[in-house]
Amino acid sequence: MTNEELWQAVLGELELSISKPNFNTWLKETFISAFNENEQGIFIGVPNAFTQTWLQNKYHKAILSALQNITDNKVKKVVYRVETKKAFALGSRKITEQQETTLPDSLRRLLEEIGLNPRYAFENFIVGKGNELAHAAAQAVVDNLGQKYNPLFIHGGVGLGKTHLLQAVGQEVLKRDKNKNILYISAEGFANDFIQAIRTGRGKDFKNHYRSLDLLLIDDVQFIAGKESTREEFFHTFNTLHQKNSQLVFTADRPPRSISGLEDRLTSRLEMGMIADVSALDIETRIAILETKAKERDFQLMGETVQYLATNFQRNVRELEGALNKIIAHCELHNTECDLKLVKEVVSSLANQVKKGAVTARQLIKVVADFYELKLNDLTEGGRRRELAIPRQIAMYLLREELDCSYPTIGLELGGRDHTTAMHAYKKIFKEMEAEGRIKQEIEMIKERLYNYND
Ligand code: ADP
Ligand code: MG
Repeated sequence: MTNEELWQAVLGELELSISKPNFNTWLKETFISAFNENEQGIFIGVPNAFTQTWLQNKYHKAILSALQNITDNKVKKVVYRVETKKAFALGSRKITEQQETTLPDSLRRLLEEIGLNPRYAFENFIVGKGNELAHAAAQAVVDNLGQKYNPLFIHGGVGLGKTHLLQAVGQEVLKRDKNKNILYISAEGFANDFIQAIRTGRGKDFKNHYRSLDLLLIDDVQFIAGKESTREEFFHTFNTLHQKNSQLVFTADRPPRSISGLEDRLTSRLEMGMIADVSALDIETRIAILETKAKERDFQLMGETVQYLATNFQRNVRELEGALNKIIAHCELHNTECDLKLVKEVVSSLANQVKKGAVTARQLIKVVADFYELKLNDLTEGGRRRELAIPRQIAMYLLREELDCSYPTIGLELGGRDHTTAMHAYKKIFKEMEAEGRIKQEIEMIKERLYNYND
């Protein structure tokens, strides 16, 4: 196993227990810079001192235990040091080997400059029921840049291929024309860039840069909701680019209307092109993905193990991939074949981390409050503001449905209400779930957060 593979397996494991924004901020740019097997020590390269401190203080335990887990305790010591990834990127990278041989060097460098991962290409995106609309729309955008669906807005739950598709658009446009001015950035990145530019008096450069693009790809746009000045800048960037037929593509974890904190003018801009969702994939597609990913890495997966994995990871391709990475790492490290017994072990150890069933009532209420950008005590205290009614009813419904709480308990948890209030709320939301409308969609997203995030 190369260091890169080992680190991929570690990240795959950490990703399951750390929220996505945190993962992206603290771990995405890290790598193993050296592994001294005699001394059982590992050096982790990090982009800056801030990250170094943060990892040391906050994630050290999780990182060490993932490393030990995967190497069978061959790591005793972890040291974080500031280093650039560039030197490392020149070394061996088995996972991307396949694409790297098919991509000319110059193009790969361009991709990296724009912020695109060569792995996220149309060629290795598997199309199936849950993603075919989004995939078709993404391809149509490439064929009719700025002309057809502008903006394209892709939304859906975690780990379902939004970032992959978004980046594939960028990669394909660049392949067709190297002179196109393209940028891929997360909404957080956009906000940070903007704030930094203002702070250093380079607001004008920022504007010039963003407004000269032919293609702007912004990932996880829901994170723009929080900051007013960033939203304002985003709005003007949008308008300028749209007016000159530059293409915009966005992703988010939910449709524009459900992102609270956006002004109507912004919501309607985001909705004016094409909206496509990605949802959970059917089993055939999941199997196809597994087989492709295993093949990319020259790994042999038997029929029954494929079936078992695809059945056990239904909602999230990232988890499916994480499990596969872990299995591969295990087999390579121990030089063994992959059999069903091993696969079952890996699946059950991952399932424990997902912690389904370990959620407390408070945590559930907190997730609902966060989702609607409220404070926990907005829901747990007695306040009767009208905008609290629905979130509170949803919390009541979920407490009953997911945690089996009794009605009197639910009433108590949510501001000392009577058990009949809780019963009424449950029935009301239950009906909404059957109506398949916005509330149902929101509840699905809340559940996703509940079981995918835990910090
Ligand atoms: P999201 O942005 O929706 O959270 P990602 O695009 O990051 O999800 O996908 C998570 C992982 O799953 C990535 O490694 C991606 O390559 C893989 N993936 C998701 N959907 C597909 C697909 N249809 N075909 C191949 N790989 C996929
Ligand atoms: Mg993403």
